[in-house]
Amino acid sequence: MKPREETQVRSRIRRLSFDVGPPARDYQFRAFTRVCGIEVGVDLEEVEPEERPRAVRLCQSEHFFLYRVGSIVDWCRKLELELKDFYVQFVFSIGFGANVRMGQAIVGRRGRAVLLIQSFIHREQQLGVFTIYFEPDNPEKILCEDIVPHELMHILDVRQGRSPSVYPYVPPGQGEWLDLFRHLWIDGYLEQHGLPYLPREKRIRDLAEAIGTEKAETLASAWWGKPMTMRDAVRLGLDAGLALEQDSPMAIWWKNIKDS
Ligand SMILES: [Zn+2]
Repeated sequence: MKPREETQVRSRIRRLSFDVGPPARDYQFRAFTRVCGIEVGVDLEEVEPEERPRAVRLCQSEHFFLYRVGSIVDWCRKLELELKDFYVQFVFSIGFGANVRMGQAIVGRRGRAVLLIQSFIHREQQLGVFTIYFEPDNPEKILCEDIVPHELMHILDVRQGRSPSVYPYVPPGQGEWLDLFRHLWIDGYLEQHGLPYLPREKRIRDLAEAIGTEKAETLASAWWGKPMTMRDAVRLGLDAGLALEQDSPMAIWWKNIKDS
């Protein structure tokens, strides 16, 4: 899969505390249709050219999105996330590669949010999305749980003031480790509220790769489900020996706020 950072439209907004404009003007988003009161777009860039006509045909029916968008609206209600300035874009990918990110939330400093959901066509006609319990060998499990609540939490982090807006594709060395810490709070919160979450053991394993098992376990005990600001996440990472490249957006932000 082609790294998304390379696409020109997206790299323009790779700053910290960036703005997100209306669909189709400031970022790659074809406002395709309105479903359940939400503007829904699709990105077929990664679909093989010969597969595109079929995908376009399916996308032209509003019905195709109804179930999936309806469930996104339900998750928003459960998390009390306002649907104002909220857009959904289904990103179709070929195959289930290791790079699949399942979902991403792009949220600007004014809270305008684009929820990107990696999608595929299931059984030739249904809109499938990747799920937390996705198992390639067991496709029946595909529709049972959802990555959406996790991504919505990243939007809430900005809207509720815990975090400045951070473009989700942070280059290596510039704070790509921040989410390893923030996920302790996010998935812990989701677990405590009975919503789909990535298990604590997985989050500890991911964090341990960066800072070692002992530190990762100690931090998980302290922070699982406990509100964590971006400031907390930077401090935890630096204390654990991780670094921010000098003069990167995050390093500048940290220098400006750390003593305030
Ligand atoms: Zn995340």
